[in-house]
Amino acid sequence: MSHDCLFCKIARHEIPARIVHEDDEFLAFHDINPAAPVHLLLIPKHHVASLAKIGPADGDWLARMLRLAPEIAFGNGCNPLPAGGFRLVANTGAEGGQEIDHLHFHILGGERPWSNRA
Ligand code: C5P
Repeated sequence: MSHDCLFCKIARHEIPARIVHEDDEFLAFHDINPAAPVHLLLIPKHHVASLAKIGPADGDWLARMLRLAPEIAFGNGCNPLPAGGFRLVANTGAEGGQEIDHLHFHILGGERPWSNRA
């Protein structure tokens, strides 16, 4: 864990967040500045700066994180398929729009129209 990292602090419950899911490995919470009717962030509890830092040893937990995304989306307000659905976004690096250097998936959904910003 990184002591200065905002999302590590949220994972340690040192900074409040509206948490919707927590287990040993992952945390999901409402984005404080939502870009869609449902806007959640899913993070690994351990510090990983971004998708660009993922290596061969990370496949198992990353697969678990990806599998968790639809469960969290549909369990927290995203409408069911086929009419509903959600977007999964991982901004990576400065030109990718990443502001917080701790890997996170934006989970965005809800009734349209809403912006594709995230
Ligand atoms: O992908 P990016 O790094 O830009 O996304 C960071 C996201 O973290 C933003 O959508 C911002 O609103 C959110 N955030 C948050 N809680 C904080 C700080 C930032 O939900 N305390």
